Amino acid sequence: MPMIRTHLVPPSAAGWSLVVHGGAGGRIAELSAQRTSAFRAGLTAAHGAGADVLSAGGSAVDAVCAAVGALEDDPLFNAGRGAALTLQGTVELDASIMTGDGRAGAVAVVDRARSPIRVARHVMEATPHVLLASPDDALVEAAGVELMDPDYFVTEARRRQLERILADEEAPLTHGTVGAVARDSAGRIVAGTSTGGISKQLRGRIGDTPIIGAGTWARDGVVGISCTGDGEAFIQGAVAHDVFARMAYGRQSVAEAASSTFAAECDTRGSTGGLIAVTGDGSVLLCHNSAMMLAAFSQDGETVTWV
Ligand code: ASP
Repeated sequence: MPMIRTHLVPPSAAGWSLVVHGGAGGRIAELSAQRTSAFRAGLTAAHGAGADVLSAGGSAVDAVCAAVGALEDDPLFNAGRGAALTLQGTVELDASIMTGDGRAGAVAVVDRARSPIRVARHVMEATPHVLLASPDDALVEAAGVELMDPDYFVTEARRRQLERILADEEAPLTHGTVGAVARDSAGRIVAGTSTGGISKQLRGRIGDTPIIGAGTWARDGVVGISCTGDGEAFIQGAVAHDVFARMAYGRQSVAEAASSTFAAECDTRGSTGGLIAVTGDGSVLLCHNSAMMLAAFSQDGETVTWV
């Protein structure tokens, strides 16, 4: 049975909170020192982009888009450029965002938008819908997001990785995904998640990331959550909403709630992954039953990376 790990950070004196993640999976020993420092640099830059917004008095929704957008642009992470490839070698991106007042937007099977999280935000703010598959170019442009050639997203590293997976030399990528959760100084909580899914996935496969209540959830005064891991299990277990429900109705602490959800919904399915959360009082939680989780948050005024 995988071990469930939690790390809780008390609310900071700054009056706002922000945590970002870059996926959960593998074993730390599998990461070379060079890759570890590259991951740390990417996480620190993304956290910094969101922290700049919040420290200037900006909103949680802007901070989440800034942090997730930075990770989407970083080819090391499984979102935006550098995403995992489908069986056919193409990229199909998913993203979602939810604000703590109950609004949400999501996109799936995106292949041209440079920043899927910003398109998800546009779905939330400017359309009557919550989830759009294959959003058309006009909608991406209306969101103010750059349209890219689909080749932009496909990196040489992911091409070689898919070749190794297809030759049975490597297990499919089952971790990756990026996300951010913020609580701004007005107390508004926002969670956002963005992914390329799982390498070698079938065309049209959609994981938990754009499914509100599975990969992403936010409710002001309670918690915001962004998940990563075996997407099918996170959908079947409605993981993000399950943690919220244990807190809101079962009166559990965020650490108890997240561990109970992992035990009940992931361990029982033999599935692994992780989540980040920010609570109504601004505490930050990391929880994972995978061997490792990539994340960054502030603690005692310093940016801490968790690799
Ligand atoms: N949860 C993502 C998905 O299933 C993958 C991941 O987080 O690694 O698409």
